[in-house]
Amino acid sequence: MEAAETIQSIRSLIKAARDSGKNIGLVPTMGALHVGHISLIEAARKKCDYVVVSIFVNPTQFVPGEDFEKYPRPLEDDLDICQKAGVDAVFAPAQGEMYPVENVTWVNVEKLTESLCGQFRPGHFQGVTTVCSKLFNIVAPDIAFFGQKDAQQAIVIRRMAADLNMSLSIVVCPTIRESNGLAVSSRNMYLSEEQKKDAANIYKSLQKCHRMIDTGVKDASEIIDEMRNILLKVPSIEIEYISIVDADTLQSIDHITGKVLIAVAVRIGRARLIDNILLDSTK
Ligand code: AMP
Repeated sequence: MEAAETIQSIRSLIKAARDSGKNIGLVPTMGALHVGHISLIEAARKKCDYVVVSIFVNPTQFVPGEDFEKYPRPLEDDLDICQKAGVDAVFAPAQGEMYPVENVTWVNVEKLTESLCGQFRPGHFQGVTTVCSKLFNIVAPDIAFFGQKDAQQAIVIRRMAADLNMSLSIVVCPTIRESNGLAVSSRNMYLSEEQKKDAANIYKSLQKCHRMIDTGVKDASEIIDEMRNILLKVPSIEIEYISIVDADTLQSIDHITGKVLIAVAVRIGRARLIDNILLDSTK
């Protein structure tokens, strides 16, 4: 496995891979790698001959007051995980490599970034789409791999790639969970064992929603109320939002129909946690 810190060095590694006829897969991450990230690497290895993992804690996607400084950066462990997972190259640039001067050029996806996390993290998605555009320009992957865990991010990136005619495809991989249902996340490191047990109720509330839709409940507010009741029983959980949206437009819906995304964001202690399920109510 090669590790590159500069844009020039990752580009020359990728050029060599391309020249030998390999197709390129990119897994963009902020590091502190876990089984969720490894599942994306495995998906990339199945579809691509040369797998690049980027590790970059992107400052422009953190809103002031968020955990940018405290975000875990265990680079040596991450390189070890990548090596064992069969990654071909890691691109781990310093901040000055990605943003050498004040950044004045931004990629902004409208509408899809307004609801859900967009309401609570102003500017977050602009940071995500801008850094992903930069990474796509640097690595020029054939396929980039994202997790369903960050459902809105995946939908926004897919739309950005389509709207800007980027010549790559986006693959979205299923959410990997702990045995108690808690979605694996780098931010779970902020939780105590007790808080992790509490956090399992996020998925319980999503499963409740799933059952209600399966049994024919159509009223979104009735479902949200049930989900809220589950979360309110856990004193450590502070609900940010519980939303049921159309899976294409990400606009709230009153009546369950077609493909719906049910998304939850909560705070527990100093962790902000998100989770979701995607359901096709016609099936
Ligand atoms: P992050 O390092 O948190 O920015 O995540 C990098 C990528 O890994 C994103 O596409 C995430 O959606 C994905 N990811 C994070 N957690 C999980 C998980 N539990 N299951 C699947 N994908 C995940």
